[in-house]
Parts: sequence; C-alpha cells; structure tokens
Amino acid sequence: MDSCLFCKIVAGTIPCAKVYENETVLAFRDIDPKAPTHILVIPKEHVESVHDVPAEKANLLAELMMAVSAVVVQENLVEAGYRLVINSGSDGGQAVVHLHVHILAGRSLHWPPG
Ligand code: 5GP
Ligand code: ZN
Repeated sequence: MDSCLFCKIVAGTIPCAKVYENETVLAFRDIDPKAPTHILVIPKEHVESVHDVPAEKANLLAELMMAVSAVVVQENLVEAGYRLVINSGSDGGQAVVHLHVHILAGRSLHWPPG
C-alpha cells in the first residue's frame, strides 16, 4: 500500500536496520527502541492486523511466527527470555497500521503493561 510506512520499508524506499528476511517476512530494528533489543517482524504483504488475515491466508500468520522464532534464536534471546507484542487499533496503541510483531528483550519487562 503506497501510503504505508512499513510497505515503504519493504519496498526499500525507506531504509531499515535489517535483522532477518525471507520471501514473505522482514524483521528490522525499531527506530525508537523500548528495550535494549526491540525488533519488528512484519509480513511483506500489507495486512492491518491479525483480524485482517482471511482463513485462506492463514499461512501468512504461520510464516510470521516462524520468522519470529528464527529471529529470537538468531539474536540469542531464548535463554534470558523475550516478550512478543501485537498492538491493534487505537486502544491497543497501534501507530503503524501494517501488522507487526514487536520482539522486546534485554531487560526485565513489567507486567501488566501500561
Ligand atoms: P505500533 O505502535 O504501531 O505497535 O508500533 C510501531 C513501531 O514502529 C514503534 O515502536 C515505532 O518506534 C516504530 N517505527 C515508526 N517509524 C519507524 C521507522 O521509520 N523505522 C523503524 N525501524 N521503526 C519505526
Ligand atoms: Zn503496509
């Protein structure tokens, strides 16, 4: 989608610090990290959030989570632990309306979140 920030990152018109990439998924460092490690994992295809994925595209969600799995192993986050977050809509605090999984790690994270 032309106006979407993350689609521009996928297209390469906005640069990113890439962490992982395959045919369907891209992972890159958050520009304003909320933890020592803060990585965003996105499907290359534009979808707004999990509720925007039709059943016939369920594989996209599997690919997304398998990429998250590859990233946490690659970045050595498994032993100390990490948190996955998907913000959705205004109450969820979603600023970029292109599905993304936040990987947060590198410090002890508070629960419940604010
Ligand atoms: P949301 O609030 O939508 O769940 O998360 C959007 C995230 O995208 C935020 O953590 C924000 O810091 C990050 N972000 C916004 N613009 C950019 C950008 O241009 N590049 C990168 N790498 N991250 C961005
Ligand atoms: Zn997009």
